[in-house]
Amino acid sequence: MKQLSENSIRVLEERYLVQDHSGKVIETPEEMFLRVAKKVASAELKWGKQKDADYWEGQFFRMMSELDFLPNSTTLMNAGTGYGQLSACFVLPVRDSLSGIFDTLKMAALVQQKGGGTGFNFSKLRPKGDRVSKHGGTSSGPVSFLELFNFSSDHVKQGGKRLGANMGIMNVDHPDIFEFMRLGSKENRVRHFNLSVGITDQFMKHLETDKPWSLINPRTQKVLNKVSPKAIWEELIFGAWESGNPGVIFLDTINSKNPTPNQGEIQATNPCGEVPLLPYESCNLGSINLTHFIKSAKGKSIPDWERIGEIIPMAVRFLDNVIEVNHFPNSKIKKATLSNRKIGLGVMGWADFLIQLGIPYGSQEAVDLGEELMRFINEKSHLASQELAKKRGSFPNWEESVFAPHTPIRNATLTSIAPTGTISLIANTSSSIEPLFALAFERRNVLGEETLQTIQPQVLNFLQEKGLLSEELKQKIAEDGTCADSHELSEKDKAILQTATEIDPIWHLKHQVAFQKFTDNAVSKTINLPASTKPEDIGEIYLQAWKEGVKGLTVFRTDSGREQMLYPGLKT
Ligand code: UDP
Repeated sequence: MKQLSENSIRVLEERYLVQDHSGKVIETPEEMFLRVAKKVASAELKWGKQKDADYWEGQFFRMMSELDFLPNSTTLMNAGTGYGQLSACFVLPVRDSLSGIFDTLKMAALVQQKGGGTGFNFSKLRPKGDRVSKHGGTSSGPVSFLELFNFSSDHVKQGGKRLGANMGIMNVDHPDIFEFMRLGSKENRVRHFNLSVGITDQFMKHLETDKPWSLINPRTQKVLNKVSPKAIWEELIFGAWESGNPGVIFLDTINSKNPTPNQGEIQATNPCGEVPLLPYESCNLGSINLTHFIKSAKGKSIPDWERIGEIIPMAVRFLDNVIEVNHFPNSKIKKATLSNRKIGLGVMGWADFLIQLGIPYGSQEAVDLGEELMRFINEKSHLASQELAKKRGSFPNWEESVFAPHTPIRNATLTSIAPTGTISLIANTSSSIEPLFALAFERRNVLGEETLQTIQPQVLNFLQEKGLLSEELKQKIAEDGTCADSHELSEKDKAILQTATEIDPIWHLKHQVAFQKFTDNAVSKTINLPASTKPEDIGEIYLQAWKEGVKGLTVFRTDSGREQMLYPGLKT
């Protein structure tokens, strides 16, 4: 078992380790990994014998306790505790009727209560002021219902540990789109929601020529209004500039890659955007800690492809087993999830991995390696799922999927790049494929209560190995969170230690594009922008992202209104 960092132990004690009724922690981290390994390996009994379950229990325990791979938080928290909801990601439909809306609200509360995050598209709801009954009532509109969902999340702590997380989407042709785009503004924040405008290719074509764009009442399908697409675009990028909300999701790009098009169109994603899902589907995630897959050859650090190749099939097996032992909140979610068996294997520690390899994040070399790595992970994951299908069968909707008739496969999707917000803390590495936010940071937990302080361990190692770690430099990094104006470091070393806001936004986007190329689901990525960025610059980034096949995008401009979880430097 790998030695856990102090921060990691704190996070585990606060939220993951089993507690008794008085709130006393009654489990060690080792016991937690054993509990999860045992539960997930018990799925093996469906196809094998006790000795198979025991074998896989050992493998799963090892890969988690060595911090080589971690499943999403809900699996770590809930597996084997009797609260068996193990998926992090859900999408629920919102139908245009009061009972439909409240059915979904209740379902969302129950999903969140057990730790899941929920995404919704509100575009089916009739617009504000539209008639409700023959007797002259009018609708208060989708934005008011989104606010209601937000209010509900105020009162449901996820798994009793963190506040509810949601994605709220409205399509670009909904008559209330302007009201929706203003929801993220500072005074009017819906704090439990990430907001995204659902953009279509048709809209982007209208934007190119400024051809009038129709806003359509979803109840009657009648055009209510024609507006300039530029007016929508300007409001969209202004919102993103001002508050980081809304982001965008590109619906046609998502649906062009939908593995089960006969089951309907995908209209929404989970809260952080990395998993586009059909109504009622859920998905469970897991991430490989890249920093543990480096070897040295001829005195140089290089990726250990062989070992990465070995852990992928184990991780896929683990995630498929999770679906097997999962408890679903209701029969609709169970049916939709078991029909496609989507999983999302991804990575964490990418920025730390690059530092270990001595490659600057803002370089073509890094982007090329990202693409090569994700291609490798995706291909090996698909092979592993095909192997599982031999014994376990293909997912039930397979015959109507893009894989039929030639490629039996167990899971409709294999890969996702999740934010790994908490599991990267447990593994003591950088999150997801994000660059380091700062070289030292103070971190508030999701409830905004506690703070954790640390200088990035990888940064310390890097400087130490190069013999550059003076007390003076250490102090400077702790204070500033950067080494950009240090006189002791070479330009190359400074480039390797560049932080998120120092890296040109184009490199952020290039990394997202490179990983998306070989990710079945989507990539959760924040494009960090300097405070001086103009709204038009954000427009350019969105346009480029659409052209390059990104499925969705969020930007964060320094000093804009959105709540920040990370604060550079220790002295802020
Ligand atoms: N999630 C959530 N609440 C949170 C954090 C995450 O519901 O406070 C869900 C959400 O669907 C998100 C997914 O978990 O998209 C993955 O997030 P992340 O990788 O940060 O989760 P971790 O496993 O690190 O907790």
